[in-house]
Amino acid sequence: MRIVIAEDDPISRKALETTLRRWGYEVIVTRDGKEALQALSQPDAPRLAILDWMMPEMNGPDVCHELRNTEEGQYFYLILLTAKDSKEDTVSGLESGADDYVTKPFSMRELRVRVRCGERIVKLQSELLAAQKALQIQATHDALTGLLNRAAIYDALERERARLLREGGQLAVVMLDLDHFKNINDTHGHAAGDIVLKDISNRLAHASRSYDLVGRVGGEEFLLVMPTAGLDGAIEVAERVRRIIAETPVDIGEKALNVTASLGVASAQILEPGITMDELVQSADEALYRAKEGGRNRVESTRKSHSMC
Ligand SMILES: [Mg+2]
Repeated sequence: MRIVIAEDDPISRKALETTLRRWGYEVIVTRDGKEALQALSQPDAPRLAILDWMMPEMNGPDVCHELRNTEEGQYFYLILLTAKDSKEDTVSGLESGADDYVTKPFSMRELRVRVRCGERIVKLQSELLAAQKALQIQATHDALTGLLNRAAIYDALERERARLLREGGQLAVVMLDLDHFKNINDTHGHAAGDIVLKDISNRLAHASRSYDLVGRVGGEEFLLVMPTAGLDGAIEVAERVRRIIAETPVDIGEKALNVTASLGVASAQILEPGITMDELVQSADEALYRAKEGGRNRVESTRKSHSMC
């Protein structure tokens, strides 16, 4: 674990550094509050700091105060070192945002216990954040394919709508449905069906542009949200996706299956507020329906302009 120390007195600073290193910590040494704040503001900065109260440039409580105002997500555990020991001083130290304080002259044993306590909190905090992040991914992604799930891709679509209203421009969506997917499940089993879904998802993610958003919205139905794309650009991408799926059979182990997809494209230029993204998706759905009717393994688009959007 890494610790930032801030101490203006050279002898105390050296003693603190040596002791912490002996205890196995990696120590980042600073000589005043400003240096400490700088060290703690780096990306991937240590989350634990021991700050002397009285320092030139910026004192310990000011560093605490500043950090508490700027920390986002991650938590810093801050220990103040102080010669002050009146109740009032203690309160004002903690009010500045410090987690703990040690009164000088302190015993190294006491410091060790307090640093360990901080270390535990920092570790708990980062475990909590990691768990929260994992949950967030779980809540927004489809477990089988790793693509955005239905709720998340529709959220993304809403954000794009807001962006269009703010900045203007255009937006396209592509609805994709695998052809005769039920036959694959019925003939080769659901495990084979899952392999197909995963493989097609990968192809879809690769064939789209890096800033497009791809979601699985139903069993074998996918939605591609394409920020800034016009109808022609979106058709081009949809055609590429169709080809990449149709050209290479999906390897399901004992054999390879020919899979095709039908795609419907729709685009919008937002001219006034009030459009729902449902209308846009519905246009793509209608185009998809025509692609199915027209013989599958093809791309259809909705040319009609979305004057309401
Ligand atoms: Mg000092």
